[in-house]
Amino acid sequence: MSEPIRITRATVKKQKPKDSELSFGTVFTDHMFVMDFQEEKGWYDPRIEPYGPFPLDPAAAVLHYAQAVFDGLKAFRSRDGKVRLFRPQKHVERLLESSRRLCIPPLDPELALKSLVTLVGMEKDWVPATVGTSLYVRPTIIANEAFLGVRPAKSYIYYVILSPVGAYYPEGMNPVKILVVDKYVRAVEGGVGGAKTGVNYAASLYAAEEAKHSGFTQVLWLDGRERKYIDEVGTMNIMLKIGDEIITPPLSGTILAGVTRDSVLTLMREWGLRVSERPVTIDEVATAAHNGELAEVWGTGTAAVISPVGELSYKGERIVINGGRIGPLTQKLYDTIVGIQYGTAPDTRGWTVAV
Ligand SMILES: *Cc1c(COP(=O)(O)O)cnc(C)c1O
Repeated sequence: MSEPIRITRATVKKQKPKDSELSFGTVFTDHMFVMDFQEEKGWYDPRIEPYGPFPLDPAAAVLHYAQAVFDGLKAFRSRDGKVRLFRPQKHVERLLESSRRLCIPPLDPELALKSLVTLVGMEKDWVPATVGTSLYVRPTIIANEAFLGVRPAKSYIYYVILSPVGAYYPEGMNPVKILVVDKYVRAVEGGVGGAKTGVNYAASLYAAEEAKHSGFTQVLWLDGRERKYIDEVGTMNIMLKIGDEIITPPLSGTILAGVTRDSVLTLMREWGLRVSERPVTIDEVATAAHNGELAEVWGTGTAAVISPVGELSYKGERIVINGGRIGPLTQKLYDTIVGIQYGTAPDTRGWTVAV
């Protein structure tokens, strides 16, 4: 039995934006979940309180040595008004895995799940209704001990904030142009690429900016050692269909274990497709394209669900995929997952949790 959650309600409520005005990550709801950790006490005082800033000592460990982790998931409103979280247990498991890698003391997984369900339940009115919109849920842990020595901190804050977000594809899914980078790397074996931690994002900014200046939407990362094997696309997992084989890089520690990746692999295996989690080189991809066997390429992640790739640019060569159009498998995967999320298709796998 976990400690009960103490609730302090906001006295002034914010104005909610219209569904049509929503973007990503700019508006936050009235309340947040907060819990503290101290070495002597463990995690204590789980509470929901009005959304607002934290007092943070300028010497707080997170500000200097980046000891922090986060996760990201969504709640969806179906036509009957019900609100459901998509695979929250899986996101909690991953938050615990990320915490372990960053030497952050583990949360009680049951209490972590309860924090998400209770907060979203309280902020239900903030979940937008238009298909494509959702309530983004951001659990985060930061080290707030005021100490400049390098070692795991002795105090932390776990918090959850919520943000109503607009449709990722307001004008329909459009395949994007991706730059394959071999000058910079995102992660190396033995590093923290497999943890959802801010440093991976900080490390990716420079390459992403360069790619944007050259007219690309995102970058495709190659492995840090040989710069041969494909790792991830932007902040998404990558999948390719070559002939009748669907390939995605294995979870070797450099890439993130995406919940969408897992959902998509599960569906494709159920459909009887040939799915391989194996290393794949960029040369294999280019050769397959030349031979006319590279059928589809897409990214997977909570934000977009599925993001079709229309073109890869590698060492100045353009690899166009499926004539730059969305492939049938890419579309089917998108429709299936979105159907489960919005309750228009049956959830036979227990992926959604009603709040
Ligand atoms: C969050 C994330 C993903 C996608 O994970 P989902 O659980 O599917 O949202 C993929 N790659 C990176 C680097 C990420 O941070």
